[in-house]
Amino acid sequence: MGLDTLRMYIDGEWVTARSGATFDSYDPSTGEVWCRLPDADAEDVDAAVQAAQRAFEAPAWAGLTATARGKLLHRLGEQIVEHGEELAQLESRDNGKLIRETRGQVGYLPEFFHYNAGLADKVVGETLPLDKADMFGATVRVPLGVVAAIIPWNSPLYLTAIKLAPALAAGNTVVIKPSEHASASLIRLMRLVEQAGFPPGVVNLVTGFGPTTGAALTGHPLVRKIAFTGGAGAARHVVRNSAENFAKLSLELGGKSPNILFEDADLDSAINGVVAGVFAASGQSCVAGSRLLVQRGIYDDVVERLCKRARTIRIGDPADAETEMGPMATQAQLEIVERMVTQAQADGSRLLHGGERPAIERGWYYTPTILACESHDIPIMQEEVFGPVVAVIPFDDEAEALRLANDTEYGLAAGIWTRDLGRAHRLGRDIRAGILWVNTYRAVSAMAPIGGFGASGYGRECGIDAVRDYTELKTLWINLSTQPMPDPFIMR
Ligand code: NAD
Repeated sequence: MGLDTLRMYIDGEWVTARSGATFDSYDPSTGEVWCRLPDADAEDVDAAVQAAQRAFEAPAWAGLTATARGKLLHRLGEQIVEHGEELAQLESRDNGKLIRETRGQVGYLPEFFHYNAGLADKVVGETLPLDKADMFGATVRVPLGVVAAIIPWNSPLYLTAIKLAPALAAGNTVVIKPSEHASASLIRLMRLVEQAGFPPGVVNLVTGFGPTTGAALTGHPLVRKIAFTGGAGAARHVVRNSAENFAKLSLELGGKSPNILFEDADLDSAINGVVAGVFAASGQSCVAGSRLLVQRGIYDDVVERLCKRARTIRIGDPADAETEMGPMATQAQLEIVERMVTQAQADGSRLLHGGERPAIERGWYYTPTILACESHDIPIMQEEVFGPVVAVIPFDDEAEALRLANDTEYGLAAGIWTRDLGRAHRLGRDIRAGILWVNTYRAVSAMAPIGGFGASGYGRECGIDAVRDYTELKTLWINLSTQPMPDPFIMR
């Protein structure tokens, strides 16, 4: 895909912005512009939403049986299998994610489409055992209409798949707005949507910035649901914007997830889990295990092992299959990480490893960073970094671990490392987080719901219930009586 070939996908056509405006997209491993994208304004967004609305009503889509929709989703899954390597290469180039990670993610991507394809014709209503004589009652699930999918830069394909697949399975149409920092892999995905045979307008994609393109989309009067993944700041705008159209909302936001290591844990496994949690994807993951809570008896041992592993992490070109940590996706993100690490030290945290840019000539790299903290009440323990930075703090017993785990405004995920089954269950029950991993971390499945508590957002993606969230419930009453309607001035 060359510089001049990137287009938006609206109503089955490959288009530029009507104004002709474009913006640059950068390769994080070099810091250089590598492609150019259309900058969609409100008029372009309106064209995409109108196309999606027309497609929603047209027989080519609305007239398909749910089983036929499922078959289209299977075909899209197969297209992804066929073109997976290209998708993985594009995403790695675009957001600096390791090729070994994008290959892994793309390798699993078809499962989201196959799983939801299977669900398409199992979205059922219920018959109601009504407490009224001679009355039949039932619920019916119907699609909502146009869905706006707002995507961040860290895992565009994966975060789109978990919205697109259930939205289409339920019979909706979709307008995708990728991040202004990473749109290329999703544009390529639109070719596969086309090849899979989805009618024009069923899936559309507009590129541009949040406050303009994103705002025009989320406030559009025809949008019926907004599936948003991103940061809290943008989410607040989206929530306010949804007052314009009363669209349903799901918000997948950030986190400050704890990894909790007890003295009885298998430490080799736990250290791998900690590294996977915060240094994989250079920490640019919503579920980053950026707080490390360690029981006092193993604290020194854990810190030593972690520093030893961090020293051996291979940082460099994300396109090299041997690389273990790539760059930050944007220069702005690199600068945020630097500021937060400097602030943590000013707040009394001790730098145990990293805390600097590595000696790599170009690109936005940062070293894996470990900070020992005395206090849990400082920004590095409370605020999302979205970089390869872990803040470590000791605890004495299970009660203290639980108190610390719940002591942030977030509640996305938690890792619990222990051989004690009772303790794992107690903490799983009492930690306020949407995902609890016991003796593992950063595992995902099309079948396993994800989502958060508190400032980590609301709504769940993946799993059986996600497809229902893309439907509206109707209640059907049928009077079976042969008698005329009784007294019209009282409720039946
Ligand atoms: P961001 O909030 O800056 O942007 C996310 C998307 O929202 C982008 O497409 C952006 O253009 C759009 N946007 C921004 N302002 C908008 C507005 N006013 N109206 C409509 N759309 C707007 O987030 P980011 O920097 O791309 O991604 C990082 C954040 O995403 C982190 O906080 C991370 O934790 C979160 N995230 C969460 C999950 C999850 O599943 N919970 C997954 C990945 C990332």
